[in-house]
Amino acid sequence: MAAIEKWKGRCACGAVHYESTEKPSLSFHCQCRQCQRATGNGHASLFVVSKNSTTVIGEMAFYDQKADSGNTVSRGFCPNCGSPMINRATAYPDHLVVNTATLDDPSIFGPSNVLFTESSQPWDHIDLKLK
Ligand SMILES: [Zn+2]
Ligand SMILES: [Zn+2]
Repeated sequence: MAAIEKWKGRCACGAVHYESTEKPSLSFHCQCRQCQRATGNGHASLFVVSKNSTTVIGEMAFYDQKADSGNTVSRGFCPNCGSPMINRATAYPDHLVVNTATLDDPSIFGPSNVLFTESSQPWDHIDLKLK
């Protein structure tokens, strides 16, 4: 019997918590320049859950960015410790895009895709471990 996966996590200081009762509909790495700047890393590792299934406790701050597609992406982070956490996109109003390493158990992440590889950095190699 498979263990029950817990899609819950928190920021570095613990002021913001979240929990989703369903498995992500999508899990991926994103190597776009906006994710690189927002994470300070070569890519963001993200998963998508529905808003309805997800409870967020604590107040996030949001930074809005216009994507090339014309959509607005709101990057949610903890105003106290600055951890990037939960993002929203106007193109997908019913969904949340969560920064994976905020999970209590990030090992359950199963990315199936890498987006925006054209802006990847030469030192950022991704080995997809499919789940
Ligand atoms: Zn925090
Ligand atoms: Zn990105």
